[in-house]
Amino acid sequence: MQPSKAVKVVVVGGSVGGLAAAHELSAVGAEAAVYERSAGRMQARGAGVVMQPEVEELLVRLGMSARAVSVELRERQQLHLHVRPFRYEAPQLMTAWDTLYRALRQPLSGVCYRLDSELRRVRVEGSEVTAEFADGYTTQGHFLVGADGIGSATRRLLDPSAHPSYAGYVAWRGLEPESALPGDLLELLTGRFTFFGSDGLQMLCYVVPGPDGELAEGSRRVNWVWYMNVPERDLPRLLASRSGKSYTTFLPPGEMLPETAVELAATAEASLPPQFARLVRCSDVFMQPVFDLPPHRMIADHAALIGDAAGTVRPHTASGTSKAFADAAGLAVALRGWAPGQDLPAGRLADWERERLLHLVALSRAGIDLANRSSLGTADSRRFFVSV
Ligand SMILES: Cc1cc2nc3c(=O)[nH]c(=O)nc-3n(C[C@H](O)[C@H](O)[C@H](O)COP(=O)(O)OP(=O)(O)OC[C@H]3O[C@@H](n4cnc5c(N)ncnc54)[C@H](O)[C@@H]3O)c2cc1C
Repeated sequence: MQPSKAVKVVVVGGSVGGLAAAHELSAVGAEAAVYERSAGRMQARGAGVVMQPEVEELLVRLGMSARAVSVELRERQQLHLHVRPFRYEAPQLMTAWDTLYRALRQPLSGVCYRLDSELRRVRVEGSEVTAEFADGYTTQGHFLVGADGIGSATRRLLDPSAHPSYAGYVAWRGLEPESALPGDLLELLTGRFTFFGSDGLQMLCYVVPGPDGELAEGSRRVNWVWYMNVPERDLPRLLASRSGKSYTTFLPPGEMLPETAVELAATAEASLPPQFARLVRCSDVFMQPVFDLPPHRMIADHAALIGDAAGTVRPHTASGTSKAFADAAGLAVALRGWAPGQDLPAGRLADWERERLLHLVALSRAGIDLANRSSLGTADSRRFFVSV
């Protein structure tokens, strides 16, 4: 490695957590380079994201306001099967994964961001970390950050004992252009965070910016999530795809089998308020099973894990993204002032790990409590798509 005054950090994973890490590390004088597995345009997995203070704080430091990348809601409403919705005032900002990705990616035009870079191996020799990728490319740095999500290769290399486990329920999802939905349905959903819950299921919906960050009415998207208890043994058939590709953690839009779509529409008719059943019918549905990855460790020698790679929180906390941002911000503070050739700031890194693990454990518990209260993932509640 060429002698350099700045600490070189290899960031594995170029989603929102990896981009936040690149910003935070650059802000403390490190030279970050991002390596992302996706070969082409990043596929939007996250859909809607509830704006949280940690995300807002980084956007402001980058010269943007949270409002510039969000749709503002006025109230919440609870739908019911047979009576009128119950509404109350609750202002909130909602954004989307692709809107945030663009907002963070654009200011990093001078930073190395290499696509088609799937991490295969990490070697630490003295004070040098070498990352090897599937295409044979290698790179060196003084430190490595694993921001490579729930299936993290970095974590498998550092801590092979940690494995995600299925939480007992899936999230069916939709992200439809406002222009594709009937006017009366849009009128009901616009400006509101809408919920419905019953035994073994919960559905929620809100409007987010359009695919290019559009905020004008008519060009935004309606984001919905329908959580539903599903036995683990039925996951493979629900994740089976039209293209024949094999998926284990995410079934993308356009890939659902026709027979699954028919079963889903029938379940919607039978168990959702008519407005939500209509929304499901109008949507190109995709699916994510919900997994738990209990937090264990975040530091190993010259490497750290952040975001979902370090541990997941249930989506009901709406804080997966903000947790990744706060992990990145704290890590950068721990590395501030460290120069190549010096010993690692081990005490500061250990403090960072302790503080973040405490936070992650508390957030994980809060998420499981929220799910339990909605009878999601609990053994005695209703289950759907049960094969006979
Ligand atoms: C149903 C559902 C709803 C959710 N709703 C919300 C919400 O409202 N708000 C919120 O904040 N969070 C939400 N989340 C959580 C949120 O999606 C994640 O917590 C967040 O995206 C974590 O970001 P990350 O950068 O750590 O990981 P990811 O976004 O998973 O990114 C990991 C990146 O690493 C890349 N990668 C993977 N392996 C490799 C490799 N070997 N080499 C190189 N690159 C690799 C991937 O391609 C990907 O780009 C939700 C999650 C689910 C399941």
